[in-house]
Amino acid sequence: GGTLDGDFFRRWLTTAGAAVEREADHLTELDSAIGDADHGANLQRGFRAVTAALEKEGPLAPGAVLTLAGRQLISTVGGASGPLYGTLLRRTGKELGDASAVTPARFAEALAAGVAAVAQLGGAKAGDKTMLDALEPAVEVLGTSFAAGAEAARAGALATVPLQARKGRASYLGERSVGHQDPGATSAALLLAALAETSEA
Ligand code: ADP
Ligand code: MG
Ligand code: MG
Repeated sequence: GGTLDGDFFRRWLTTAGAAVEREADHLTELDSAIGDADHGANLQRGFRAVTAALEKEGPLAPGAVLTLAGRQLISTVGGASGPLYGTLLRRTGKELGDASAVTPARFAEALAAGVAAVAQLGGAKAGDKTMLDALEPAVEVLGTSFAAGAEAARAGALATVPLQARKGRASYLGERSVGHQDPGATSAALLLAALAETSEA
């Protein structure tokens, strides 16, 4: 219950950063199977920059926290995931405007707009074996609860295993991308799990 203030979104991103640190080797291992073995390192670099940038700021509105974080991801992550996650957070932040607190329902709507912006930027859709396979089912149910969003993202990431990649580096492998879990869908599930964790804390 209740509304979410800027501090909630800071704690979300800090919790997500901690999850990235914990899971970096796993993310890189997944990316070594169907990519270039840098997804863990990419997100570590990005989320360390996010955490450092947020520490330098005083209190910020939810939208400002998310747009600042998105800018950091875009400017520090060399890989495809940087502009994609950066766009997710910047667009979500823009949707929230300068409200000092937002309802979970409003945030769920804003995040859905952010996910749509990711789809537009990357030209991918659900079933292409990308982060969208976790993000799209998550935002569909996020209005119900953050826990439901986290579970949908986790299931979506697991469901990428039998898929053939149609976007990103993994698509260069063609049929050889089948049988591996997508790294970006896996990290997207971490971000949604961190959201649920933050709302329960
Ligand atoms: P790179 O592939 O440039 O090394 P990363 O390894 O950091 O970047 O991220 C790879 C992940 O990015 C993939 O697992 C996939 O989930 C996601 N991705 C790649 N291309 C796209 C795209 N066009 N749309 C959505 N997600 C994508
Ligand atoms: Mg990579
Ligand atoms: Mg790379």
